[in-house]
Amino acid sequence: MTVYLNGDYLPLSEARVPVLDRGFIFGDGIYEVVPVYGRKPLRLAQHLARLQNSCDAIRLSNPHTAEQWTALIGDFIARQDFADQNLYLHLTRGVAKRDHAFPKDAAPTVFMMANPLVTPSAEQFEAGVSAITTTDNRWLRCDIKSIALLANVLLRQLAVEAGAAEAILFRDGHLTEGAASNIFVAKHGVILAPPRDHLLLPGITYDAVIELARAHDVPLEVRTISEAEVRSADELWLTSSTKEVLPITQLDGKAVGSGRAGPLARRMLALYQSLKQT
Ligand code: PMP
Repeated sequence: MTVYLNGDYLPLSEARVPVLDRGFIFGDGIYEVVPVYGRKPLRLAQHLARLQNSCDAIRLSNPHTAEQWTALIGDFIARQDFADQNLYLHLTRGVAKRDHAFPKDAAPTVFMMANPLVTPSAEQFEAGVSAITTTDNRWLRCDIKSIALLANVLLRQLAVEAGAAEAILFRDGHLTEGAASNIFVAKHGVILAPPRDHLLLPGITYDAVIELARAHDVPLEVRTISEAEVRSADELWLTSSTKEVLPITQLDGKAVGSGRAGPLARRMLALYQSLKQT
C-alpha cells in the first residue's frame, strides 16, 4: 500500500513518524475520511471545508489550499490499485519537544492512506444492524473531527462487546449521534435529525441526507430528539462516509419498527447512491 507522508509517497511499512509528533503525544490533530467511488471522491469540497473548520477550531494553519488538496488527493487516488477507496487524511501540529503550549515553528505532519472502500451490501442493508444506547460522555467540541478519539473508542467497544455494531449516544436525555456515525429517526413518515451544534460531528453524509430529503420533499424536521422518541421510532438509521445509510433494526436487543430496513431508509439510501453518478 502506498501512503503519503509529508510530501513523499512510500510503502506503508516504510512510513515513520517521530515519537515526539504531537499527534502521538497529545492526540493534537484532526482528520477526514473521504469515500471514493470509481476513483471519484464524493463531496470532496465539503470534506475540505470541514477540514478547514477543524483546522480553524484547533488553530492549526492548513498547509494546503482547497485547490492544492484537490490536486494532491487526485494524484494520490490515481496511485492506488483499487477504484473504490476509503481515503484517510490526517494532520497534526507536528514534531516538537513535549510541551502543551503550541510549538513556535513546527510544521504540520500530513499523512494520507487509502484502503478499499467496503460499503454495506444490499443484504446487510435489508437486515440492518443492532445498536446499544449509552451516555455521551465526550467533551463539548464533538463538532471538531479530532484524532483524539479515546471516548469514541471506548463507546464503540461497549457496542462490540454487546454484539452490536454501534453505540447511540444521549446527552441530558437527548440524542447526539453514534460513536462513529450520525443517527436519524423516522416516525409517522417524518424524518427527524438532531441539529448541527458543538455536540455532534457535522457528517458529510448527514448533510447529504438532509439536503436530499429537502430537495425531494421528504418530510423532515431538524430538531432536538428525546431518548423516548428514539426508543419508539418506526425506523432508525446511521449514516457515515463508509456505511452510507444503514438501518438500525435492533436497539438494546428490541426490534426497531418491523425489525427490517424501512421505507424511508430505503428511499434515502437510493437518493444518496444517486449522488455517486453525479
Ligand atoms: N459522527 C462521528 C462521531 C463520526 O466519527 C463520523 C464519521 N465516522 C460521523 C459522525 C459521520 O461523518 P461522515 O458522514 O462525514 O462520515
